Amino acid sequence: MITLQNVRKDYLVEKKSITALKKIDLTIERGEVFGIIGHSGAGKSTLIRCINLLEKPTMGSIIVDGQDLTRLSPSQLQTARREIGMIFQHFNLLSSATIYENIAFPLRLSKRSKSEIDKKVRDLLELVGLADHAKKYPAQLSGGQKQRVGIARALANDPKVLLCDEATSALDPMTTQSILKLLSDINKKLGLTIVLITHEMHVIREICDRVGVIDGGEIVELGPVAEVFLNP
Ligand code: ADP
Ligand code: ADP
Repeated sequence: MITLQNVRKDYLVEKKSITALKKIDLTIERGEVFGIIGHSGAGKSTLIRCINLLEKPTMGSIIVDGQDLTRLSPSQLQTARREIGMIFQHFNLLSSATIYENIAFPLRLSKRSKSEIDKKVRDLLELVGLADHAKKYPAQLSGGQKQRVGIARALANDPKVLLCDEATSALDPMTTQSILKLLSDINKKLGLTIVLITHEMHVIREICDRVGVIDGGEIVELGPVAEVFLNP
């Protein structure tokens, strides 16, 4: 579903080059929940942001569902990105828009009809358990509820891939459990491929099929969760 080939990412900071990713080769299978774990500064954010080209790799290919995203024109990339939803640590909701409008936003961007949008938003509210909260604003919701809105919004255009950037790091342990359960249910129900980054081992243990350990911009270990975490 996702293949990263020879991916390198350098940031230019005050004329100096910082290598965030050295040489990443990685394949993530369709329908799998894949975790990337590593310390702060290891390259997790850069790696996940390269998958949808929020960061443009300095070198290498990013192939999602058979398409090399690094070779697309800006308008082709915009279309391809509908296949890739993303959720964030701090939710990134529009604070002046209702929950309904937050979820409708990507559907309006992709020019769906009014009735289509209405049906989709109601289905998504139902899916994430927020059917009674459509008219509220983000500030009226708990952290866990905000992340549910983030998930609903990310799923609006029926993506094949969901990227989760430290999606539970701002949540307490019980809320984290419920969000991970929701992600796991969505993975099973919709067959969605999920890629998540985290610095917390328990998150990986909870829902991931396989894990890659990243350190210094390189994948230093890769395999099924039980095998990787058995190693001392
Ligand atoms: P994380 O929580 O994954 O460790 P960071 O705090 O490293 O995230 O980064 C948060 C944001 O700041 C990201 O968008 C990242 O690209 C950006 N960022 C991280 N390090 C730097 C830096 N040295 N200079 C500029 N931006 C940075
Ligand atoms: P992590 O998510 O594992 O904390 P990041 O991908 O945020 O790691 O960062 C990897 C390296 O790249 C760090 O040295 C960080 O400072 C640097 N970095 C990340 N984003 C930026 C940016 N936008 N500009 C400059 N340097 C960055």
